[in-house]
Amino acid sequence: MSKTVTKSTCCYCGVGCGVLIESDGDRITGIQGDPSHPANFGRLCTKGMNLPATAASTTGRALYPELRLTRDAERQRVDWDAALDTVAERFADIIRRHGPDAVAFYVSGQLLTEDYYVFNKLAKGLIGTNNIDTNSRLCMSSAVTAYKQALGADGPPTCYEDLELADCVLFAGSNMAYAHPVLFRRLEAAKAARPDMKWIVVDPRRTDTAAMADLHLAIQPGTDVALFNGMLHHLIWEGLIDDDYIGAHTDGFTELKTLVRDYTPKMAAELCGILEADLITAAEWFGRSPSSLSLYCMGLNQSSHGTDKNLALINLHLATAQIGKPGAGPFSLTGQPNAMGGREVGGMATMLAAHRDIGNAEHRAEVADAWGMPVERLSAEPGLPAVAMFDAIRGGRIKAVWIACTNPAHSLPDLGNVAEALAAAEFVVVQEAFANTDTVPYADLLLPATTWGEKSGTVTNSERRISRVRAAVAAPGEAKPDWWIAAEAARRIEAELYPESSSLFPYQNPIEIFDEHAGLTTGRDLDIGGLSYARLEADGPQQWPLPVGATTGLARRYTDGVFATADGRAHFHATPYKPVAEPTSARYPFHLLTGRLRDQWHGMSRTGRVPQLFSHTPEPSLAMHPNDAERRGLKAGELVRVESKRGGLVLPLAVSDEVQSGSVFAAMHWNGQFLNSGGINTASLPKVDGKSFQPELKHAAVRVERALLS
Ligand code: SF4
Repeated sequence: MSKTVTKSTCCYCGVGCGVLIESDGDRITGIQGDPSHPANFGRLCTKGMNLPATAASTTGRALYPELRLTRDAERQRVDWDAALDTVAERFADIIRRHGPDAVAFYVSGQLLTEDYYVFNKLAKGLIGTNNIDTNSRLCMSSAVTAYKQALGADGPPTCYEDLELADCVLFAGSNMAYAHPVLFRRLEAAKAARPDMKWIVVDPRRTDTAAMADLHLAIQPGTDVALFNGMLHHLIWEGLIDDDYIGAHTDGFTELKTLVRDYTPKMAAELCGILEADLITAAEWFGRSPSSLSLYCMGLNQSSHGTDKNLALINLHLATAQIGKPGAGPFSLTGQPNAMGGREVGGMATMLAAHRDIGNAEHRAEVADAWGMPVERLSAEPGLPAVAMFDAIRGGRIKAVWIACTNPAHSLPDLGNVAEALAAAEFVVVQEAFANTDTVPYADLLLPATTWGEKSGTVTNSERRISRVRAAVAAPGEAKPDWWIAAEAARRIEAELYPESSSLFPYQNPIEIFDEHAGLTTGRDLDIGGLSYARLEADGPQQWPLPVGATTGLARRYTDGVFATADGRAHFHATPYKPVAEPTSARYPFHLLTGRLRDQWHGMSRTGRVPQLFSHTPEPSLAMHPNDAERRGLKAGELVRVESKRGGLVLPLAVSDEVQSGSVFAAMHWNGQFLNSGGINTASLPKVDGKSFQPELKHAAVRVERALLS
């Protein structure tokens, strides 16, 4: 066999690095960073470099469809026809008996845009339920909601080049050194070249990112809004806001100004548990720098007030006109490789295709027209977002759930609830590449899917750039592309429910799906009418919007000060500080913080297969400040039980001053493969943000005790 090189994209984080996959026949033999890809220019992090090892073996892969007829039976191998007919019959039967909202889909930011598109059309267009949500709900929904409320449309206004052009970088709730390593390397290089560049890191923990900051604001968990309001108070007081810009391009500033009058730097700093002088320094650097860029991630988003945290940060940018110009703007870093693509196709319970709104009758009519179906079938009622969806499964309102490319038995909060939900459902379909996730044991039907290196389509990274994903090798066993599985099942469900109608799912390949999706974006803020697979092949990855006739995508949005709102003005939002949803108490005295490790990804179904990726952090642990450990007579390495009101688990103790006294930290990756429980989300809190419905995965009140092992 001759060696071949295939251009593709890394399947892990939202940086979206281009890769060159080296293969020999049906074996992936190596990987290089793609020097021509504008996200990474040839760089890769350890996760990306080790991708070939994740594809090296069929061990642990889902290889064949498997079905069980009763809950206590073992799943048995079946052929694809039997598997797909079963999905169609079971879903159609439940829909006939209980209505369309008795079924649900829980999908993933790991899916390619084409996969996502078909699932969304299947749920909303064919079945007529908006009960399709995604693990992006756990990731970016607060950022989405805030962008829409403040700027009028989803999506960051910035681009990666802004990292190199910023004079002041404010990291908020982002350990970028671990979660977006290649972008962090770009920033490091920029700072080395321009030492005057200021880095402010807002994080309760002294992460590797914080350790490199010029100013680390180690705030108390959940106090971000107080910090941003205090910074704005100082900016107003010192005349560092841009009155002309505020007057010409925004509204709502008067109300915000009234609110932040109370947030004196002294008062805000006390709430945050930091020095007043440090808060003032942060405000001065942000306000006086020619260009200020904010990079933010789960520390803001995964909160019961995540939308407010995002809005309070955007307020700073609007008040100082630090938006719509090189090196400036609010820049949410997407966690997953295609969280953006999922938003573009409207693959969430609260959205319609191409950034349209479910509640907007005109938008529903446009989508129904494009899909060639009666508009009445598109429900005007938002579906159930992730946490509420699993509550409804547990309560019996949703009878069947189809889970694709994600692992809710590990990643949702309050895992005891999730386990009860999956056990209570009448019918659980799990579509997965890996057979070893914590969710697979609940599957009545397991549908084997292709994964990185085997599948083709597109993804959109954090700077709105669409890249091709290409297959380098054939899939093992009988694994099939996710879009194919969804479309084949959809045709069968359609035949059950609407035997008279012609197929809404005629696709033979992902190109046809992409073209249909691109057609739906015409005239929208994310218009990619000028984009096609042929153009991506010829010109490489492209940013949206890229309408018909455009020679290139748009690097920065709102450069003319005209926003995507109805009146073209950005909206300030007066955001009072609210504390974390579950305060600490005498019984649960510690703040539990969660986060990521440098070399692991999500529930480790891929990275957990690579021994080299355990050299940085070989085992799970609970990090505790030395003073707290000493007070409790606990020593590094001994087993402790960390427990919230919902449940807990046993972990080895790590004594570290990276966490403040009063807080403990655990990584979110370790799961049932490695632990005696589903992981740290056994203890986490299912309380969600009232606007974005994103759960507060970053904080819960816990107690920590020496583990008593029987
Ligand atoms: Fe992959 Fe993200 Fe690493 Fe790039 S930075 S190689 S996209 S994990």
